[in-house]
Amino acid sequence: MQATESTSTAEKLERLRVASLDEILGVPFKVLDDGFVRVIDYMGSDESIVQAARVSYGKGTKKVHEDRGLIRYLMRHWHTTPFEMCELKLHVRVPMDCWRQWIRHRMANVNEYSTRYSVAIDATQTTAPDEWRLQAQGNRQGSAGFLDPETGGRLTDEERRLQEESRRIYEERLAKGVAREQARKDLPLSTYTEAYWKIDLHNLFHFLHLRMDDHAQYEIRKYSEVIGYDIVSKWCPIAWQAFLDYRFKAKSFSSIEFEIVKHIAAGNPDAAISTAISLGLLPADRKELKRNREREELEEKLEQMNLPIPWRT
Ligand SMILES: Cc1cc2nc3c(=O)[nH]c(=O)nc-3n(C[C@H](O)[C@H](O)[C@H](O)COP(=O)(O)OP(=O)(O)OC[C@H]3O[C@@H](n4cnc5c(N)ncnc54)[C@H](O)[C@@H]3O)c2cc1C
Repeated sequence: MQATESTSTAEKLERLRVASLDEILGVPFKVLDDGFVRVIDYMGSDESIVQAARVSYGKGTKKVHEDRGLIRYLMRHWHTTPFEMCELKLHVRVPMDCWRQWIRHRMANVNEYSTRYSVAIDATQTTAPDEWRLQAQGNRQGSAGFLDPETGGRLTDEERRLQEESRRIYEERLAKGVAREQARKDLPLSTYTEAYWKIDLHNLFHFLHLRMDDHAQYEIRKYSEVIGYDIVSKWCPIAWQAFLDYRFKAKSFSSIEFEIVKHIAAGNPDAAISTAISLGLLPADRKELKRNREREELEEKLEQMNLPIPWRT
């Protein structure tokens, strides 16, 4: 078969490099007490997003937007495929309970350290006396505030004894010849695991959106913040800023919320209340204000915008 273009006439392409990311290649960013995230490899940059978008708009398209404007347009309008042109490969060290949440993100490529094949990593995540979080009352999945450090100190001692004992039993099983795949079964979830994790920028933004959020568990939030603020910000700074502006820090309004906000902004609290009642956010008699998540989330947004909450006055 004949090549369509000879090597001599083919366009010579330079591999895209991002100097600020090259500088931190392989450098571990510490997370929690013994975890880390480090960049192993990457493909693409802000430039690749622009390049992919321009291809999809057709060869004849003129350079209408500046790169920044185009990337921000793509982000605003959920034109997501150009972001998939960028790939990031990380090496992560994470406690197993945190990894269990992490691995739920299916749109990534993963290879994890095998405790069938190798002896489990001899490191567990430990909790300092002032780091024991209390169960949140309003949110069954969350925590709020801390245990007093004296009680925390006792829990930390217990934690250490438990982790040491389970490690001792694990190693005893191995010494007696038990298979690694079975010996590991009683290791605590605080045991660190390691993995290579590769993901494209679109799916990484999805991950970061969910896991940098206040509702995500503290531990995975710490990893996500490092990936976002220390790595993605250096790798694709324009896309990162667009993500912060239009996704992560953006506020969205349902059509119901939008109607209510319009009435409040027009100085018409009675209309806002009637709308809230007619759309089920408030009970008709307003006497017994039962918990309503949708209403509470709207109230939070109103507070953030310094707008009055008409049914509270
Ligand atoms: C605060 C919080 C609390 C959570 N609580 C729980 C919980 O209590 N119990 C629980 O089980 N999980 C829980 N999760 C996990 C959550 O439900 C998701 O599994 C996880 O966040 C991964 O999200 P994802 O599926 O969107 O991501 P990915 O798996 O990375 O997928 C990205 C996107 O690809 C698409 N996609 C991927 N696979 C499929 C598919 N098979 N079919 C169709 N579309 C697909 C979807 O659009 C998806 O959003 C929680 C997550 C968060 C952030």
